[in-house]
Amino acid sequence: MKQQILQKIFDHFDDWSQQFSVACGKGCAVCCTQNVTMTTVEGALLFNFIKENKKESWLSEKLELLPDTKVQQTTNEFAKACLSGEETEIAEGTFDAVCPFLENKLCAVYPARPFACRCFASTITCSQGQSALLPTSHLSAATTLSQIIEHLDQFNPWGNMLHILYLLADESEGLHLRSKHDRSAIRDSCLTAQPLPGFLIGEEEAEIVVPLIETIFQTLVKGRTIEDILNNR
Ligand code: SF4
Ligand code: SF4
Repeated sequence: MKQQILQKIFDHFDDWSQQFSVACGKGCAVCCTQNVTMTTVEGALLFNFIKENKKESWLSEKLELLPDTKVQQTTNEFAKACLSGEETEIAEGTFDAVCPFLENKLCAVYPARPFACRCFASTITCSQGQSALLPTSHLSAATTLSQIIEHLDQFNPWGNMLHILYLLADESEGLHLRSKHDRSAIRDSCLTAQPLPGFLIGEEEAEIVVPLIETIFQTLVKGRTIEDILNNR
């Protein structure tokens, strides 16, 4: 059920994003140097894709070296702090290294990439030292949907993509990991997904972002709206 909801969110975001004209194209991958974070529901989708494509050994190789990074705040923790008037900044987190899933300048897990990667876009071509440029409504929608996905996976680990994948692969039967890492240290480097504290949509972005949320909330999954499922109704 969670993965079906996630896929609906991905599909609606893809459709909604078509209204923006971006400079992104195949082989353009400066954005694949960021610290991608995700939930375990996104991790499960990605892990299933890897298994379906019989790439377990490939994954095991990719997980031999894990990034030495610790996330500071989940998106919903950030939103909660903002909504209660605390001064806080979302940690951007850039790696010195390129994502190990980038091969020949293409994403090897593209159909199952996490939501953070689906938000990579820019109206100008990025280069080293030149960040992506996006309308605030796009950034607002990306934050809002990240919050919904985190809520969907609340109380499960939330963190760096490779850390989450390692936790999932480590508990998966039949997958032999080439390198064993300290599981509890990896869990400690992750946080825990939190329930939605409210949205951070500004007045100027509401007109374009709210219809996207309403469309997602009214989408049916197994005969119930996503809104009802998220609210346990
Ligand atoms: S976000 Fe930037 S680096 Fe990534 S595909 Fe778009 S233009 Fe290229
Ligand atoms: S998973 Fe794919 S899209 Fe995301 S950072 Fe890695 S190579 Fe880029």
